[in-house]
Amino acid sequence: MTEQTIPVWNPATATRIGEVHAYSHSEVDDAIARAVDAQRVWAALPIGRRQQFLYDLADSIDVHRDELATLESQDVGKPLRAALAEAESVASVFRYYAGTIDKLTGETIPVDGGVAMTFREPVGVVGVITPWNFPLPIASWSIAPALAAGNAVISKPASLTPLSARRLGELAAELTPVPDLLQVVTGGGSTVGGALIDDPRVGKISFTGSTEVGRSILASSAATMKRVTLELGGKSANIVFADADVDKAAFAAPWAVFDNTGQDCCARSRILVQRSVVDRFLEGFIDATRALRIGDPAQLTTDLGPLVSAEHRQSVQTFLDADLDVVYAGEAPEGPGFWMAPHIAVDPAAATRAARDEIFGPVAVVIPFDTEEEAVRLANDTIYGLSGSIWTNDVGRALRVARGVESGTLSINSNSSIRVQVPFGGFKQSGVGRELGMEGVRSFTEHKSIFISTAS
Ligand code: NAD
Repeated sequence: MTEQTIPVWNPATATRIGEVHAYSHSEVDDAIARAVDAQRVWAALPIGRRQQFLYDLADSIDVHRDELATLESQDVGKPLRAALAEAESVASVFRYYAGTIDKLTGETIPVDGGVAMTFREPVGVVGVITPWNFPLPIASWSIAPALAAGNAVISKPASLTPLSARRLGELAAELTPVPDLLQVVTGGGSTVGGALIDDPRVGKISFTGSTEVGRSILASSAATMKRVTLELGGKSANIVFADADVDKAAFAAPWAVFDNTGQDCCARSRILVQRSVVDRFLEGFIDATRALRIGDPAQLTTDLGPLVSAEHRQSVQTFLDADLDVVYAGEAPEGPGFWMAPHIAVDPAAATRAARDEIFGPVAVVIPFDTEEEAVRLANDTIYGLSGSIWTNDVGRALRVARGVESGTLSINSNSSIRVQVPFGGFKQSGVGRELGMEGVRSFTEHKSIFISTAS
């Protein structure tokens, strides 16, 4: 029988750069059986040995940083400079979680007749299903804590961008004290992802991707009562008050929405600006956007690459319909590749699709507002609640608005969302559960309570 494969493309050149094996349902079944055995051995190893593996893997990621970043850059169309920084961040995620292994403490609880205590037990085998926008970082946010908590992991990268995860699996296989502790299974979402979700031997699914697929995973998980973490879509607001350093906010805004060519779940694609400073903000925002260098991802000076696929570009372009008042359209390379220039629009009624739906591309909508209450109402007028920014020099207002916005991760006078030490995740339909920080590793455990009688 001929091997089933999936072609892999470079979105900057529209050329085929490789292929990966498409796992069948029965091959995923076999991988799960191997993972069940591996998990028992792994969880029983001494703490120091388990920590050493995660530290060794972090070191190996550092050693292979250029190779991993090049794979990611060619596979996603991501600027190499960004891919290098992401590969470094992945090593730091493994190091952070190596340090959590001996900090997964329980409690002792005073009760009548004895002592109750709690333990954090591994859930067993964890399936990690990830998207194509930040393939390696997002996979590491689940793989590292799941391993640290004593689980075996089966990782399924997005079919569009499987190369870096496949390589991570190879690096792990060279170092692991237990064969098949971390397996990477490439292939289609419904076949490979579905096989993991439906199997009762998989204790938890950690999924990052679209809200639509997340909803279907939540529904299918009911059949086996599977634990789930879901990191889904977003429509985050960047709120700029007139009392802020407006120039600083305007200068920073392009990176908050156009970075990774807008293919970022945390993209602040709704920019709410207090009416009295809209003109000044727009002027600075457009100037800073014009300065972004769009082109060959392999050049270290490049800021923005193409979109991930022709199909995705077509979907993003539908947001530029006749209803949208576009006040700035940049320039992108012509010719092969799935290029799209940044676009800035103004929508005073916040009623267009671009103002309301997740775009996942380089389109930003500026929405004027008058009062603090209106800003919070507009920010919350969405099914999503992932991240957001607040720009103001009034400390009280900064905290009032941050507490009022229904979103999991907010930045004040900054657009930065992710830190390995800090829990990350969404309110409302942006997800279920949290990744990163100690919250992230606890989410790969089951709480167990044990009672010891002290009766004589
Ligand atoms: P997607 O939902 O299409 O795919 C994500 C993963 O799920 C892929 O590996 C895919 O193969 C798999 N999949 C698809 N259908 C499946 C099914 N029926 N069963 C099981 N697995 C299935 O998402 P995408 O297009 O790769 O990524 C873009 C989306 O991801 C955006 O909505 C974005 O906001 C979201 N995202 C969220 C976060 C976050 O942390 N909240 C981070 C990055 C991306």
